[in-house]
Amino acid sequence: MTRQFSIVTLGCKTNQFESAAISEQLQKVGYRNVPFEEGPDLVIVNTCTVTAATDSQSRNLIRRAQRLNNKVRVVVTGCYAQVDAESLAALPGVALVIGNQEKEDFLHHLTDLDDDQARIAVSDISRAEQARPMALTSFEHRSRAFVQIQNGCDAFCSYCIIPYARGRSRSVALQEVVSQVGRLTESGHAEVVLTGIHIGNYGQDLVPATSLLELLRAIRSGTGVRRLRLGSVEPTEIPVELRAYIAENDWICPHYHIPLQAGDDDILKRMNRHYLTSFFADLLTDIRQRQPQAAIGLDLIVGFPGETEDSFERSLSLIRTLPATHLHVFPYSRRPGTPAADMPDQVPGHVAKERAARLRQLGEEKQRAFARTFIGQELEIVIEGGLHKGLRKGLSQNYLSVYLPEDQARIGECHKVKIEAAMGEGLLGSINN
Ligand code: SF4
Repeated sequence: MTRQFSIVTLGCKTNQFESAAISEQLQKVGYRNVPFEEGPDLVIVNTCTVTAATDSQSRNLIRRAQRLNNKVRVVVTGCYAQVDAESLAALPGVALVIGNQEKEDFLHHLTDLDDDQARIAVSDISRAEQARPMALTSFEHRSRAFVQIQNGCDAFCSYCIIPYARGRSRSVALQEVVSQVGRLTESGHAEVVLTGIHIGNYGQDLVPATSLLELLRAIRSGTGVRRLRLGSVEPTEIPVELRAYIAENDWICPHYHIPLQAGDDDILKRMNRHYLTSFFADLLTDIRQRQPQAAIGLDLIVGFPGETEDSFERSLSLIRTLPATHLHVFPYSRRPGTPAADMPDQVPGHVAKERAARLRQLGEEKQRAFARTFIGQELEIVIEGGLHKGLRKGLSQNYLSVYLPEDQARIGECHKVKIEAAMGEGLLGSINN
């Protein structure tokens, strides 16, 4: 009887990439990937611990797997498993807890699942020195493929648990990344997204050292990739040479995802983030001048300890003036073990939520205004899975959702689309081949 498994993933693109690689490893040795709701005997939960909410979602998934099949063997991995293996191992149904380093050698650890006692395979990730690439030939059920180029982070922003869950910054070898992008392009993915925990640091730990810019050049000369998108890059790690290269190369999506986190210099200092709002504003002005049609998305945390109504208002008015096109807003989440967790002046949850709602509203206004500038123009989109109100959904190079009649296109295809109207924060169009 074919062994069945299901893998559920929380969190970032790096976790999504690792889950896709684990799924491919299991299928190569004869397992069959089935939907979670079918209650297979083996369930892998790839957890996230960036907020208290993701911890609770991880625990809920483990409980649901057990309710769906009381003989289930749950393997828990990911960042929550890395920082709190004991409490996860104690949950009913959990047979094995695997750390983020051990994840790279998943099959090797997948033994003795029938022991009564849950087993823990989690090493001290702060000692990890290399990022061993997890090979992937295709990104199942997705038209856009993610490629992990780097792992870990050395920044230790005061609110962030990730350096404790992912270890120090380490890069995948340049040729490994080029081969990985090549494999996914050859298997038909029209777009590849470069991801990691801190990709702006790419290559600094390699011998000889290299950079994100050199990696892009190597991908250009070594693969036939059609569209490449960058994951989030820290504001201090987008030098003018990189901005110029992106602006000159239309195979790189004109889409910047840049964490600002707060629009107030005192709060940035308390967050242990090393730039001023004036530097950030100059960076965005330069990007906008080089690429008038580029999407610029900002990460923002509201309700950070010490944030007053005044400092929030300063943040809001700065962001209103910035040429950003959309905002990813997160209420601050207290993470035990981080410096910010012990800071005075913690902001009440309801205040953080209310401020997040105001900032998200500004984000929606910016997104709608940006989208409307493309009515009457042509955009190239990649068709993604699923239907939205009976319409196919595609993603443009500059990160706009474009909807078109279902019968006009299939998932994974790339099309030039004439934009006819606005639709919510997205656009409505028809194929213009
Ligand atoms: S740069 Fe800061 S926010 Fe990002 S992963 Fe590193 S510590 Fe966390």
